[in-house]
Amino acid sequence: MSKIVVVGANHAGTSSVNTILDNYASDNEVVVFDQNSNISFLGCGMALWIGKQISGPNGLFYANKDLLESKGAKVYMNSPVTSIDYDTKTVTALVNGQEHVESYDKLILATGSQPILPPIEGAAIKEGSLEFEATLENLQFVKLFQNAQQVIDKLQDKAQNINKVAVVGAGYIGVELAEAFKRLGKEVVLIDVVDTCLAGYYDRDLSDMMRQNLVDHGIELAFGETVKAIEGDGKVERIVTDKSSREVDMVVLAVGFRPNTALGNGKLETFRNGAFLVNKKQETSIPDVYAIGDCATVYDNAINDINYIALASNALRSGMVAGHNAAGHELESLGVQGSNGISIFGLNMVSTGLTEEKAKRFGYNPAVTEIKDIQKAAFIEHGNYEVVLKIVYDRDTRVVLGAQMASHGDISMGIHMFSLAIQEHVTIDRLALLDLFFLPHFNQPLSYIAKAALAAK
Ligand SMILES: Cc1cc2nc3c(=O)[nH]c(=O)nc-3n(C[C@H](O)[C@H](O)[C@H](O)COP(=O)(O)OP(=O)(O)OC[C@H]3O[C@@H](n4cnc5c(N)ncnc54)[C@H](O)[C@@H]3O)c2cc1C
Repeated sequence: MSKIVVVGANHAGTSSVNTILDNYASDNEVVVFDQNSNISFLGCGMALWIGKQISGPNGLFYANKDLLESKGAKVYMNSPVTSIDYDTKTVTALVNGQEHVESYDKLILATGSQPILPPIEGAAIKEGSLEFEATLENLQFVKLFQNAQQVIDKLQDKAQNINKVAVVGAGYIGVELAEAFKRLGKEVVLIDVVDTCLAGYYDRDLSDMMRQNLVDHGIELAFGETVKAIEGDGKVERIVTDKSSREVDMVVLAVGFRPNTALGNGKLETFRNGAFLVNKKQETSIPDVYAIGDCATVYDNAINDINYIALASNALRSGMVAGHNAAGHELESLGVQGSNGISIFGLNMVSTGLTEEKAKRFGYNPAVTEIKDIQKAAFIEHGNYEVVLKIVYDRDTRVVLGAQMASHGDISMGIHMFSLAIQEHVTIDRLALLDLFFLPHFNQPLSYIAKAALAAK
């Protein structure tokens, strides 16, 4: 019998626990610690909940203590792990306020990520706050279920009278939240230091489509502005950038996340951003210690190197890989492409791999083939939306490096094929003659994917 201790039980931790208990329960004792009161909160539903596009938060959880314990785990909730001794193989946690020491044979670190607090005057997290509560009232961080609940409570509180909301950070979370507040009828300004939105995932021509979409729906954009201060007498009153100052009632900070790796205590090797460095088996630099999800690196097939890409999808897969390996059954990750999607006011965008800009930054000599077409056969009169597809490939090897798509129709499934193409280092020429089915309800005899690939120079 081997004892596996899992620290952190959100998406990555829960996935590893499920993998071990679904496959190898009889050979392993599993002990889980999480500092939070809930597990498996799908942050991806936060904006939908805030914007009242779903009726409530219940469906945003898919696991809990009882469920994991019914499979055989021992789960300690509200129990922060405070230190780990990697020599004696023990974990120390605070359980009901008392120090609790647990030994392990294998350890899985799944401590996730924390919101980045940029150097903004007036922006601070309350000391010791596990829930990322700000010192200034109505300055909100968005990570946990509790954070979303707090935003909703404040929006519903008539005494607060929150009408003007500033969202800082125009990555996918900031853009989603800007939409949510607008759907509630609030005045919304979306601020970003970069002069566009979704810059990490789309080149300018596609991100401009989202920019226009936001403007068309009445969201004020303050792109290319750096937030300097959030001011107010105990409560948010004003947000000040290097170019402007605005009276606001609430500020939401969504400028990104950093890996939460304090428990490594300088003992585990880390990546340049502090994430635990892991190999394809999720093994860290210390034997019998695995790291998964947002606290760990990934292998990025688009750059053929280690990278940091914090996504729930990566968290789930890395949890599975660690679960098998910790239980003694070797399994290697296939690596990732950073596939992602966003849907705002009906504009759907998906991407995978590298943008043209990023490809240049990583030292590739990228070429691009791009197409704007209707999705279905021309005689389909309804629901036949325009699709923009941009494929980035290496001019020298012709290997596909990335793809971006946008449409008001649902084009999301197409991006999975590009994800596989990048994983398998497929060339653009092989996509051109790929067997793509035709049915007028869905596509054209020669699909826009084939047309784009055929047009590659
Ligand atoms: C608003 C929002 C929207 C998102 N949308 C998407 C999306 O659409 N698609 C997507 O793929 N990803 C999305 N993400 C990202 C996704 O939520 C994260 O990648 C995912 O949560 C990572 O899971 P994780 O388990 O690795 O880490 P986390 O979710 O950060 O969980 C870490 C866990 O560790 C616990 N913990 C930390 N330290 C300790 C300690 N010392 N002791 C005990 N417990 C500890 C925490 O309480 C927590 O439960 C979104 C994130 C947010 C915030």
